[in-house]
Amino acid sequence: MEILVDTHSHTIASGHAYATINEMIQSAKQKGLKLLCITDHAPKMPGGPDNVYFRNFKVIDKVVDGVEIFMGVELNILDFDGNVDLTNDVLSKLDGVIASFHTICIKPGTIEENTRAFLNVMDNPYVQIIGHPEDGKVPIDFEAVVKKAKETNTLIELNNSSLKPTSSRVNTRENAIKLLEVCKKEEAFITIGSDAHFTTSVGTHDFALNLIEEVKFPYELIINTDVEKFKEFMGRKRKNI
Ligand SMILES: [Zn+2]
Ligand SMILES: [Zn+2]
Repeated sequence: MEILVDTHSHTIASGHAYATINEMIQSAKQKGLKLLCITDHAPKMPGGPDNVYFRNFKVIDKVVDGVEIFMGVELNILDFDGNVDLTNDVLSKLDGVIASFHTICIKPGTIEENTRAFLNVMDNPYVQIIGHPEDGKVPIDFEAVVKKAKETNTLIELNNSSLKPTSSRVNTRENAIKLLEVCKKEEAFITIGSDAHFTTSVGTHDFALNLIEEVKFPYELIINTDVEKFKEFMGRKRKNI
């Protein structure tokens, strides 16, 4: 089993990541990735790019040095109603959309409130991936979130950076195990993302893959082991718009 698509990465545009798009692509190529999703932080992240940044991706080639490029975003969930910081008009032009809860942008609420935020954001037809839902700083009802992901054709992310010892997120290992158990039971698809903020982390998924082995998570439920399977899934929600 090999991860051929990295579904989550950041460039210098995010304000706290340190490589250019081209440097990230070169690293992806070296790691043997077939497709790289560039998902810079959305405007409400301090230091993040303005929405104009997300409107001009047409200037970037779809394939660079043999690596297919998806230009997307990691949205900020702004409130418990699931509002986000780019309009549907902008999102409709992007290749890949992650929605995440960042405590720098919104103070976590109760489990019920946080869960409501995730459930509501999945009703957004452009949100294809839920980013790092295992962060213990933002407790949620995994069962409810995974069921909704399955129902709405949204992917649950297993975030490799969350599992690094240096991560600022909390209880990520035990939460990721719980999350994977629920995904297995519900037969919900997951995606493994590096959440790289520098070149060396692109396509690096070791911590996530170790956990996959440990909990014996079914490989067939990991979407980014196959480029076509990944692309087909990413198109599912948008078909109904
Ligand atoms: Zn994030
Ligand atoms: Zn990220």
